[in-house]
Amino acid sequence: MGQRRVSVLLPLPLAGAYDYLVPPELALEPGDFVAAPLGPNEFLGVVWGEASGEVPVARLKAIIDRLDVPPLSQVQRRFVDWVAQYTVSPPGAVLRMAMSVSAALEPKRPILAYRRTDEPPGTMTVTPARRRVLALLADGPPRPMGEIAREAGVGTSVVKGLVALHQLEAVELPPPPSFREPDWRHPGPTLSADQEAAATALRLLLDRPGFAVTLLDGVTGSGKTEVYFEAIAAALAQGKQALVLLPEIALSAEWLARFESRFGVAPAAWHSDLTQAERRVTWRAVAEGVARVVVGARSALFLPYPELGLIVVDEEHDGAFKQEDGVIYHARDMAIVRAQLGQHPVVLSSATPSLESLVNVESGRYRRLGLPDRHAGASLPTIEAIDMRGIRMPATQFLSPPLRQAVADTLAQGEQAMLFLNRRGYAPLTLCRTCGHRLNCPNCSTWLVEHRLAGRLQCHHCGRMERLPLQCPACGAEGSLAACGPGVERLAEEMRALAPAARLAVMASDTIGGPAEAAEIVRSIREHEVDIVIGTQMVAKGHNFPMLTLVGVVDADLGLAGGDLRASERTYQLLHQVAGRAGRAERPGRVLMQTYQPGEAVIAALIAGDRDRFIEAETQSREAACMPPFGRLVALIISGHDVDAVIRTARLLGQKAPRGDGVSVLGQAPAPLSLLRGRHRHRLLLKAPRNVRVQPLVQAWLAQVKVPGSVRVAVDIDPYSFM
Ligand code: ADP
Ligand code: ZN
Repeated sequence: MGQRRVSVLLPLPLAGAYDYLVPPELALEPGDFVAAPLGPNEFLGVVWGEASGEVPVARLKAIIDRLDVPPLSQVQRRFVDWVAQYTVSPPGAVLRMAMSVSAALEPKRPILAYRRTDEPPGTMTVTPARRRVLALLADGPPRPMGEIAREAGVGTSVVKGLVALHQLEAVELPPPPSFREPDWRHPGPTLSADQEAAATALRLLLDRPGFAVTLLDGVTGSGKTEVYFEAIAAALAQGKQALVLLPEIALSAEWLARFESRFGVAPAAWHSDLTQAERRVTWRAVAEGVARVVVGARSALFLPYPELGLIVVDEEHDGAFKQEDGVIYHARDMAIVRAQLGQHPVVLSSATPSLESLVNVESGRYRRLGLPDRHAGASLPTIEAIDMRGIRMPATQFLSPPLRQAVADTLAQGEQAMLFLNRRGYAPLTLCRTCGHRLNCPNCSTWLVEHRLAGRLQCHHCGRMERLPLQCPACGAEGSLAACGPGVERLAEEMRALAPAARLAVMASDTIGGPAEAAEIVRSIREHEVDIVIGTQMVAKGHNFPMLTLVGVVDADLGLAGGDLRASERTYQLLHQVAGRAGRAERPGRVLMQTYQPGEAVIAALIAGDRDRFIEAETQSREAACMPPFGRLVALIISGHDVDAVIRTARLLGQKAPRGDGVSVLGQAPAPLSLLRGRHRHRLLLKAPRNVRVQPLVQAWLAQVKVPGSVRVAVDIDPYSFM
């Protein structure tokens, strides 16, 4: 009998799994994590199945070792293959998302933390960096090295230096807090009749396992979270793990607090702000089934759950679920696939469901559970337009007299107001009044945004920063550069002049340092330590502010300007969410929207509160144009530093484009963002009827064109961005 062979998938962008010999002493099963050689290196991978047999035994290398980690389940492996196939990505690139931290696969190591010693400083030079570290550790528990460096704003060498000087010493930390089981027996709040009906329907689904998609469709403040908590409790009671995907995990302090008060413990959180150590511990806890409930951003979908029994996608319409680089995927859509493979329910929750989901409800594929009323009888806000066409204002003023008056009235009543503008910084454009030159980013085809607080210009695409020049870079005129248009900083300036005594808070991703700071601002708003909140979409989501009774939308037309496929839908969702911040408690809310196009369908629907009519019109226009979800789109983004190579590749792909059977390819022009981070970009857009399987088409298409090494072709199935 010959030696046993298996195929092993490595977390690398290779075409597929490779065959390896199994040393006789290793008993391997599919799903086992192993160490295997590739070229001169050793990689960690997963036994994927039987060997392909394509490579002669004599040329095969042997697996080095099996790792002491629970195997990747069959469902999880099929999920990796499915996502790879659907997104036209190498399976290893998808596996890499599932493995995430290779350190998690290594034997458990003790975690070291550092504390101060009693050693006198002696002749040591106390540099400011050292002083910060010593001050940080003056009291409180020992902390890990990385955390000390981060909190004190120093390099780890400073910490190591202090250890060498015996000012700090290492101690072994007890194993990290175990992920205690959430107490699902603990009763939740008394549900309203609508909530109870929805919760009962979800509990029934969990009682008999099987795949089902439920859309929890309820107005903002109707208590959807409490309803899906009941589904989580039911999953836990069945001995299953549950996953909740949230779009903006950084803002979920309020969500976490609610989970804790419902279940007595915090869930395991998974997001980009975790440290390496936290990742390692959480990944392990999920793999070992210790972590029972995970809440996370889209990447949490790829964690190695052995017993997943429920996925909840909260704010399912949110664009943040689309991952735009690396493996390009939509976490909501992939969550549904994961649930189908795992044969368990998935709950999509939103006050403004995506058109895709509503169409699926219509066709009977998804079940809809509605919550039509706000919790505890709170009323929905009234929404009015301020028609800006008839209003004359100086070019440096952005708040119209009616909006100013409404803010003043609100403050006079001792209530809170919010101004919403989805633009960070001070001004989106800086223009020379002498020659008309606009300050733009040299790396991207976009304007630089002035951030006056930080004293600089910034590119919102590549992050480039510069000082605001004193002279126009084009004509040299001095003192001629003028800020055009408003960002939230500029609104704050206008508001400060109007209401000098009012307490202002600006909320935008760049003015807020991190989750802790965001939570603190949210708390201060909730506790009425703030009178006026000025913010970007960061303020739109999820918060309950009981004293907030006025929401002013400064530019309701902003999101419509780009005009892509989903511009109207996105604008509707965003403005509806923002409006939903007003009047969440017993005080009724009022929303004023400044607009130059009050007759526009989106604005009219918001004012009339007629979502159904808007959705119906959108659905019809998409259906007529054969656009998603009635047709399929695939974008190819061709990019590189060498503009000629990019154009040549785009042209070749254009020539070889598939045609016929209703398939067409549009584009071949430079992308709207024709330069991004120094890379030139072209786009092609393939459009196909719904019944066409686009992946084989795209693969065959790409196979016909030799792409130079300097050019990258990214495949975006179901694109949401058209830039
Ligand atoms: P949604 O997610 O639908 O916008 P939430 O779940 O955030 O609504 O609920 C809105 C507010 O009402 C929250 O403050 C929540 O704690 C409260 N709430 C919802 N349902 C109940 C209930 N059954 N009992 C007590 N409070 C509730
Ligand atoms: Zn840039």
